[in-house]
Amino acid sequence: MKTLHFGDVTVDRLVELEAPGFHPSFFLPDATEAAIAAQMDWLLPHFLHRESGRMIQSVHAYIIRTERHTILVDTCIGNDKPRASTPPWNNLQTPWLDDLAAMGVAPESVDFVMCTHLHVDHVGWNTRLLDGRWVPTFPNAKYLFEKREYEHWSTSQDDMTGPGSSDGCFADSVLPVMAAGQAVLVDGDHALDDQMWLDPTPGHSPGHVCMNLSAGGKKAVFSGDLLHHAVQVAHPEWNSRFCWDQEMSRASRQKFVDQKADTDTLILAAHFPSPTAGRIVGNGDRCKFSPVTD
Ligand SMILES: [Zn+2]
Repeated sequence: MKTLHFGDVTVDRLVELEAPGFHPSFFLPDATEAAIAAQMDWLLPHFLHRESGRMIQSVHAYIIRTERHTILVDTCIGNDKPRASTPPWNNLQTPWLDDLAAMGVAPESVDFVMCTHLHVDHVGWNTRLLDGRWVPTFPNAKYLFEKREYEHWSTSQDDMTGPGSSDGCFADSVLPVMAAGQAVLVDGDHALDDQMWLDPTPGHSPGHVCMNLSAGGKKAVFSGDLLHHAVQVAHPEWNSRFCWDQEMSRASRQKFVDQKADTDTLILAAHFPSPTAGRIVGNGDRCKFSPVTD
């Protein structure tokens, strides 16, 4: 994704991983071969791997730079983290932090970290391993966590392994931030300033939020895991197998697609592969996702 400009505000994408991953029938349990085939004309080549039929997905963060602040949205998986439930992510080693520096962002310069929710692939770089301890990666940042999301995981009994678990990430990537006094618990409609504000979109997780950006006469929304894959704009009723509340997740996704379809709002999802940014457009009786390729 090329740098996006919203007046004086820029948005960049920093990729940790991108590759063909799950097959749709596994990741989206309600998806059928026929329903996928009906959308194939626009799912290829960006969203499905032609040879294997697997979903192409990425894990990435967004970097927002305004005149005053640098903001990170979702912090990927992170290095050195024990992740028993997801072997490819276990003790991951990537140059993500070096890549961030190459984009001109030193850890000290980050003012805010915004996690759309507290799943394992959205909080990882909140912390890094230093002398055997997990410490906040961004020493001067305020980390914004939605209140209900934080409360859910802080009282959860299943926070170690298995689908829908935190796989240990609450302990190693959220609690150290709280202990350092850098966490700010916010409501689901919190406004960061007059250009950025949250919308509650619960269901995938209890306190999932999207973050809106409006600047320079243009709009974008950082939609986290409200949509995991572009085919869900055609089938908003399809949950991922990792959604927490099935009906709530469907309702939040349907409302979002209805609101954003055929508008100029750029959608910046957490796992859409390159070119990533795009719009939801009407396409007969079902919407499609139209990526911005220039
Ligand atoms: Zn995710």
